[in-house]
Amino acid sequence: MKLHQYNTNIFDEFRIKCNKCSGLCCTALYFSKYDGFPADKAAGIPCSYLDDCFRCSIHRELHSRHMKGCLAYDCCGAGQTVTSLYGDENWKANPPIAQEVFDVFVKTYYLQQILWYMSEVLTLLPAKPLWPEADSCIKELHLLLKSTPQNILDFDMEVCRTKVNALLNKAWIMVKQQVGHPKDTAGKKDFMGHNFKKSRLNGCDFSSALLIAANLEECDLTGCNFLGADMRDTNIQNADLSESIFLTQGQINAAKGNLNTRIPGHLIRPSEWD
Ligand code: SF4
Ligand code: SF4
Repeated sequence: MKLHQYNTNIFDEFRIKCNKCSGLCCTALYFSKYDGFPADKAAGIPCSYLDDCFRCSIHRELHSRHMKGCLAYDCCGAGQTVTSLYGDENWKANPPIAQEVFDVFVKTYYLQQILWYMSEVLTLLPAKPLWPEADSCIKELHLLLKSTPQNILDFDMEVCRTKVNALLNKAWIMVKQQVGHPKDTAGKKDFMGHNFKKSRLNGCDFSSALLIAANLEECDLTGCNFLGADMRDTNIQNADLSESIFLTQGQINAAKGNLNTRIPGHLIRPSEWD
């Protein structure tokens, strides 16, 4: 069953360009050793491996050092967007603006995620009646992200989130209708370590679900909703997610796939799967 239609490069803006970024994720965010980062670190403090040119000095060793958090993290393009917004300024050269840059980065990350989901709505054939609304939301957020750091900081995220969640829910209902008889998870959200191997899960609602280390091997996941699901170490080997909806690059990076895993056309296969 075909749910997505890709006819533009609308996802290009979300590809991370670390060479055009001032190492924002490695500095602005809190992270912990437990989650696969080098050490416990407070927000606003640069990782000890970030070099003077904002490059990761152990980039080639991230796999061998099992830095799963670093490998899976994806800022949805927020890093380069914020770095370019500040032009020649950056948090290191101008410490008084550092906190503002980090705050703008965190907010931009959420805005980029919203843009990502709205862009996916524009590819969902069953949600065609919602395309004009999604398109207008995208245009509004693009204008915001090209304006000023202060405008981004002042932007009311809660109002935007409420509107966007309602739209995503409508899109999901339209997809479910197309998929047919969605599997009922009875509102259950905790599937940590659950073994679904070879199950037929078409149209399952995994939104906000805990799928950490769950086994989805050889499952047909057409029309499954993965909005906000935690997919760290989820086994998706030989699974078909090509028509799953609301998956992000970060989720795919965090999961365990293989050569035969099928993913939606707007996502990039992690190289280690091959
Ligand atoms: S914030 Fe994004 S672009 Fe910047 S270094 Fe991190 S992943 Fe790369
Ligand atoms: S190890 Fe490298 S990628 Fe990970 S947080 Fe530190 S500088 Fe960033």
